[in-house]
Amino acid sequence: MFSVAAPHAKGKCAEDNIFAANNRAIALAEKIGNDQVVNGTVGSILDEDGNLVVLDVVKEALTKLSPKEICAYAPIQGYRKFLDDCIDQCFGESRPEGYIDACSTPGGTGVLHHVVHNYTEPGDEVLITDWHWGAYDSLIDDNNRRVRSFSFLTEEGHFNAPAFKEAVEDILKNQDNIVIILNGIANNPTGYCMSVAEWQKAVDILKDAVADGRKNAILVPDVAYLDYSGEKQECRKFFKVFGGLPKNILVVCAYTLSKGFTMYGQRMGAMIGISSDKDVIKEFVDINQYSSRATWSNCNSAAQNAMIHICEDPDKIRQLDEERARYFKLIQERASIFMKEAREEGVKFVPYISGFFITIPVTNSQAVCDDLEKQHVFLVPLKKGIRLAVCSISREKMKGLAHKLALAIKAA
Ligand code: PLP
Repeated sequence: MFSVAAPHAKGKCAEDNIFAANNRAIALAEKIGNDQVVNGTVGSILDEDGNLVVLDVVKEALTKLSPKEICAYAPIQGYRKFLDDCIDQCFGESRPEGYIDACSTPGGTGVLHHVVHNYTEPGDEVLITDWHWGAYDSLIDDNNRRVRSFSFLTEEGHFNAPAFKEAVEDILKNQDNIVIILNGIANNPTGYCMSVAEWQKAVDILKDAVADGRKNAILVPDVAYLDYSGEKQECRKFFKVFGGLPKNILVVCAYTLSKGFTMYGQRMGAMIGISSDKDVIKEFVDINQYSSRATWSNCNSAAQNAMIHICEDPDKIRQLDEERARYFKLIQERASIFMKEAREEGVKFVPYISGFFITIPVTNSQAVCDDLEKQHVFLVPLKKGIRLAVCSISREKMKGLAHKLALAIKAA
């Protein structure tokens, strides 16, 4: 094939198997009827009738925006009020001790791009878990860095601290900075949630690894699904663990409005830096703002203003919390139906606590998914398993799904 791409770009292609499976499911539903198709590919909340959920409080805020609020350029760093709202909404009552500031980004994806770009060198390894969101690979690779993964969970289904420690120490033999992206809350694709003690353990390992002060660690808690991970204040307690760390450990929370505000396509989020050192946070804002200028420039004004309007009214925040709690409960109910039937059918799944997805570990995921598609069930094949979107399958359609899976696993 004739190519004019630069060497580093040659052969790259963003063919996404999740969107591809979703498109096939939609096409089939149009042909034979929505009630005949189970579409467990989508990473957005769908209601019991299969419609995309947009929280009422968000709908109202968006429709009330003035043309200026929608169209004006926002500051590169983001509107100050928006940034403060992100910090408040992210941490709740568990704001960590230290200097904290934020930069606006297009979703959590923007945070990950900047962290990889600004805190590692080309050729460096970036540490992620073996169970991870597929986009991490491209975000690391496209920046000419390398993916390094460790086994996230032990045989018993808990955070694998020894594997984490081994990978951290090994990477630091060759690099001055280590960046770790840890989607430890309502993990995509498993639904695992690290306990406060497990986050503490991870931080303690980093403290030990950089104790001599010659190297730096940048920990990125990816909290994309935070708002559907448990009771509002309870599920935020782990943030306290990031306070009072040595100055060579920077924590950058990847905060997004995609799920918590159901504003997926508005592309809005924020990188929130926490450090015990004032200069580290000043540098954090300076360098990331510079990179924003050099990539997407400023972010979406409408989404920032919608969040500002919601957060300035305590009644609206209450409504936001209530709506999220309702969908958290719905997702939990869907997951419970699946897990009960899966246990009865002998279908194994990775320990699920909360979040949008459950993972069924299998070695031949593509063959199982192909077989399921013949029965009009669409799931996502991963390297080591199958991802089932509990956020998008109704309770009714969830019934019997484990049975179909059991048959497809036997047949494949
Ligand atoms: N992190 C994880 C684990 C995700 O699954 C997603 C979206 O699916 C994101 C981050 C970021 O999404 P967005 O860029 O829409 O905020």
